[in-house]
Amino acid sequence: MDLKKCEKMAREFLQKFDLKNWDFFFDRAKVRLGACHFAKNKISISREFVILNSEKICRDLILHEIAHALCGAKIGHGKNFKKKLREIGGENFSKKEVRMPARKFTAFCENCGENFQTQKRCKIACRKCCRKFSNGKFCEKFIFKFLEN
Ligand SMILES: [Zn+2]
Ligand SMILES: [Zn+2]
Repeated sequence: MDLKKCEKMAREFLQKFDLKNWDFFFDRAKVRLGACHFAKNKISISREFVILNSEKICRDLILHEIAHALCGAKIGHGKNFKKKLREIGGENFSKKEVRMPARKFTAFCENCGENFQTQKRCKIACRKCCRKFSNGKFCEKFIFKFLEN
């Protein structure tokens, strides 16, 4: 959705739920969607996430962070959190509906094509191939290659 519209919506929600000393900003995260910064009284949403996703999903994400702000840091995602989220009109969205920002690398196995997205290079081998061709033991041959996205 549009960034300006999203910021406006977030600020309206902060007002509506009486979080008057709270602030909103866009962050540059790629591995999480939003965050509640309790020590600073701020909520943030990933800029790229907003650009990639629908208004409905952005709205639910903002309400998710607002529910954190209202519940406090110790509550986590338990029963009380879910109750609060429903109370303020938010819904849990399924991860499937969400379009995530691209990660930095695509890791892939040259042998079988198995692949995943990641932020960091690391030295791990393809589990499938190790199981199939190396009796389940780590094998240099099946180490994932990394391609910058
Ligand atoms: Zn959360
Ligand atoms: Zn493989």
